[in-house]
Amino acid sequence: MAIFFNEEFLSHVQGPFHPESPERLRGIRQKLKQHDLWRDVKGSKTGTLETLLMVHDEGYIDYLRSCGECSLTLDTMVHHETYGIAALAAQASVDAVKWSKEEGRPSFALVRPPGHHAGKDYGIGFCYFNNIAIATRYLQRQGDKRIAILDVDVHHGNGTHEMFAMDPSVLYISTHQHGIFPGTGPVEYVGKDEGEGYTVNLPFQAGCGDSTLDVAMEEIITPVTAAFKPDAILVSWGMDTHYRDPLASLTLSSVGCARQAEELMKLSKKLCGNRITFMLEGGYDVPALSEVVAAAVGSTQGVEVPLEYTDIMDNSCLGRGTIMRCKQIISKYWRL
Ligand SMILES: [Zn+2]
Repeated sequence: MAIFFNEEFLSHVQGPFHPESPERLRGIRQKLKQHDLWRDVKGSKTGTLETLLMVHDEGYIDYLRSCGECSLTLDTMVHHETYGIAALAAQASVDAVKWSKEEGRPSFALVRPPGHHAGKDYGIGFCYFNNIAIATRYLQRQGDKRIAILDVDVHHGNGTHEMFAMDPSVLYISTHQHGIFPGTGPVEYVGKDEGEGYTVNLPFQAGCGDSTLDVAMEEIITPVTAAFKPDAILVSWGMDTHYRDPLASLTLSSVGCARQAEELMKLSKKLCGNRITFMLEGGYDVPALSEVVAAAVGSTQGVEVPLEYTDIMDNSCLGRGTIMRCKQIISKYWRL
């Protein structure tokens, strides 16, 4: 698995005590080095206006570039360097999907800032440019027809969802915690107009963990993605689903998180020639985040990374009701 990373991502600092901190990437890098997995690492050049314009409005891009010091929301601050680093994260995401297409192997955009909350003309939730949406449009310009976006971050990817809600060429499946930021993504919402049926939401109650996500993978994510026949799978990869995460209350263990990543890789092998790119979104407990990333990267290189945070808190599929309801709703569009 090639890793797309630039040192500059560590220079993006929102402010003191902000959970989306450079320590996240430092922790991951250290853990990967510890297991001799910091090998196939590639850098990118700053994203061009053309790259950003694939999904964002020019006025919004201009604002981020020129505002200097301002704030989009209370927890999403803009400093002088923010524009360049966010554009670099978008470019690294594009480079990662391009590499995966050329090589037929998984890739990982180890980036900050994250992207899935950013809309066409706004940034919220620590996000400025929507990395995964930009990478999706890039691939489609290069000739891919159908892209599956699987958003496993604990938060709903409102920005990504908005950009593709009416687009049947992009499947968007999100698993997230119900009732937290940004408040979007109800199970009833399936996209609209031509895109109806191509959005699938699984909002789980607090407490749902390993077995719920295993069942969701088996009964919804896998069959729907297979029926969609994607040219590539892109993953909004957030480890804020972990029980140690300070911002949310799902209860995945490191084993559950790592298994999810491995299952997604197996799916991409079966469906689209190993074309899968993981893009880092959230995950705010650095030790948990780091060990899950290392386990997933290690699994592609035959390296077993010992895991520390393995308590299973949901072994009876607490989210069964949500899964049943979702199946009922989407059975109109997909044969499950
Ligand atoms: Zn998140």
